[in-house]
Amino acid sequence: MTVTAQKIQTYKELLETARAALQRSYAPYSHYRVGAALLTKDGKVFPACNIEICTWDGSICAERASFASAIAQGHRDFEAIAVVCEKTVGTWPCGVCRQFMAEFGIDLVVVVPAKDGSIATLSPDRVVASLLSAFCTSG
Ligand SMILES: [Zn+2]
Repeated sequence: MTVTAQKIQTYKELLETARAALQRSYAPYSHYRVGAALLTKDGKVFPACNIEICTWDGSICAERASFASAIAQGHRDFEAIAVVCEKTVGTWPCGVCRQFMAEFGIDLVVVVPAKDGSIATLSPDRVVASLLSAFCTSG
């Protein structure tokens, strides 16, 4: 996947928005704070953070929280999502979030910080491939 210089700048700004959202994380059990920022195809950004409750199933990842916010406000066409974790660098969305993302289109680019200070992206075909791989190897 070719990423233009303009896109790289957009993605870096998206990562900074995700990093700011991380500060609002509610993670009293895992202390694993995550922020996300979802970019719509018409240029709107929806930041969100993970929110934990005492049961794991009731908690929500930052990625899905950003989708919920955007969809609730009438958006369904997405370009990219940036994800930042407080404790780790370059952590990709979990399987549930990838499935959630795929529900709203497979042309979404996932952006995370890279260990060398640059950015890393996961192209849509790799997101889908990882989903298929998860289905093929489970059970
Ligand atoms: Zn997740």
